[in-house]
Amino acid sequence: MTTIAALEALRAMTVLGEISSGAVTRADLDRLGVRDGRLWQKLSAIYFGSTRQRKLQAAARAAGAELSLDAVAVIEKHLRTLLSGGAVTVEELRVELCGLRGTVADIDRAAAARVRDHNRSVQDAAAKAYGKRALRGGKNTDGLGMRTLTLTLPERQIAEIIATLLPTAEQERAADKALTYEQAMGDAAYRHLVSGSPDGSPPPMIPHVVMALPDYAAVLRQEGDETIFALTDGTTITGQELVEQEMSTHGLVGLYSPVTGGINLYRDERCANWKQRMLLAAETILCPAPECTTPATQCQAHHLIAWAEGGETNQANLSMACRVHNARNDDNPHAPPRHGRLERHPGGVVHLPPDGGPPRTNIHPIRQLSALALINA
Ligand SMILES: [Zn+2]
Repeated sequence: MTTIAALEALRAMTVLGEISSGAVTRADLDRLGVRDGRLWQKLSAIYFGSTRQRKLQAAARAAGAELSLDAVAVIEKHLRTLLSGGAVTVEELRVELCGLRGTVADIDRAAAARVRDHNRSVQDAAAKAYGKRALRGGKNTDGLGMRTLTLTLPERQIAEIIATLLPTAEQERAADKALTYEQAMGDAAYRHLVSGSPDGSPPPMIPHVVMALPDYAAVLRQEGDETIFALTDGTTITGQELVEQEMSTHGLVGLYSPVTGGINLYRDERCANWKQRMLLAAETILCPAPECTTPATQCQAHHLIAWAEGGETNQANLSMACRVHNARNDDNPHAPPRHGRLERHPGGVVHLPPDGGPPRTNIHPIRQLSALALINA
């Protein structure tokens, strides 16, 4: 049997069915060193065990026939966060999520977004979710003498914390070029937590809300409460929340044109100015590299045609890109391709893979709310 055939035989529904029928036991899984044996057993009970919802269970199996065990595991992880009292039951949503396709990472993000959409319709959703806030861990020391904390808070609060730490981290990195982003953020978190905001720490960057003009008008009239908008820090907000938070706490990018006159700087200045950064952030919401989740507020302005190659600092030649994808971009078009490059195509910035394959985009669900997606809708 080839490896490919072995992996194909390991599709979730095949394995879970055999666990359910007893053809594969928990002892077999343990003996073969399967780490997730316990999880597979639980999944097999969900997809093959007795239930009052037999039709929906069969529909989920049919929809998910092609899925891997990892994909089914992430679907169930997100289904556990579905709040009760909404328009769909967990069994109904399972069928929908089992119809998702793509890499496990794609399914992970799409499933999170679908469950989030459904949870928004639940009464007191924010209050119910807020009950899940936590600071966990910090008790186990690893081989290096380090400990790890995991902080769970509403996305807005986490984005606020990162925006508060970022300027301190950037100051530290400016002072010590050897610091990585993660190290500098770790130092900043320690300094802010232990001693409060360090003296002279710069104010955090204000995230901007991205909306089309008709929606902007509706929000000003206090209509469109249910409409969901993206913020340039990679979080989302509803029209109602925006009004409740008095709009003033968030910047607004109300106008957007893909070709905006008056801000072309041509070769005057290498660094994108503030207005350009705002428009670029609204355009993309996240780094445009496929599967990247870095929000635009943490990205750098990237020259699509490199400055060294004569690329200009104007809207058409710029895109936001995270540090990693900015650094990994093949800036020199004459050198052999290594990581591929970002390029502006009609409809937005795409990634051209190094093997010459078709252009790929970042299909993260929140990017459907980006300025470019809104004007192309
Ligand atoms: Zn990126």
